[in-house]
Amino acid sequence: MGILFSAYRVLRDEVYRKIPEISCQACGQCCVSPHMTMIEFCYMVTFLRDKPDYLTYIISRMVPNHSYYPNLLTCRFQTPDNLCSIYPNRPLACRLHGHPVMSNVNEQYRIYCQKARPIDRQVSMDEVHCMLDRIAELNQGYYSYYTPPYWISGLNTESWLTVLFTEIPKHVFRLLRKIMSRELDIQHIPTMFNQPVHLQDKLVLIDRFQSEFSCGNYQVLGALLEEIQHHFPETGAYYFFEAEMYRMALEEKKVQALIS
Ligand code: SF4
Ligand code: SF4
Repeated sequence: MGILFSAYRVLRDEVYRKIPEISCQACGQCCVSPHMTMIEFCYMVTFLRDKPDYLTYIISRMVPNHSYYPNLLTCRFQTPDNLCSIYPNRPLACRLHGHPVMSNVNEQYRIYCQKARPIDRQVSMDEVHCMLDRIAELNQGYYSYYTPPYWISGLNTESWLTVLFTEIPKHVFRLLRKIMSRELDIQHIPTMFNQPVHLQDKLVLIDRFQSEFSCGNYQVLGALLEEIQHHFPETGAYYFFEAEMYRMALEEKKVQALIS
């Protein structure tokens, strides 16, 4: 039994099971590499632990860009007939996709399914916030980065695999790698993950951005933000929340500079 066993139980019983199923048409259009927290990532992978050959195939496959969203990678758990190979353990983002409430949330949910409809009842925004809070609590028990910077908490599948199978020289990622390796115990699978994303390059830019921000070098920050947000699509949309916060702070500084 893994160290996250009790967290999985809460995730399954207190979060996932409360979300009504939607009438998905299995067109496959929405299955880009989804965002999730560490505990969700581990829960998703554990679904395949009893199928080591399939898990090896999943980890080693080279995933193409998604045909509808060319800059995003197709989810590696999607089957050739557009089904989800880890359906009972899929993360919150996938479960909420297609629910009308998500059309009002934020930029990353603008990719919004118009074909699926909830079968029995609609999820409210309050419920979504409760679910996010509950998942945040679960992750906080294992690592402290669920609070800002949020970008570490919600990486996409490709970024989590990059953290798990490559050496990212940053303390928090070493810690996360240790927890995931211990929990998933899949290091014996021949390391065949051949598609790491440019997480490290993005981190270098994020560090540079934060240091320029604290030094007050505001003239370079706009361009850096653009680069961070748009040059690494395969890493997913993480850092968007922080980027928006920084963008607002920058606007405020510019106004202050004009006034003074
Ligand atoms: S949720 Fe919607 S877009 Fe995604 S596979 Fe189902 S029908 Fe297609
Ligand atoms: S985990 Fe499953 S539902 Fe989610 S994007 Fe991947 S294939 Fe689609």
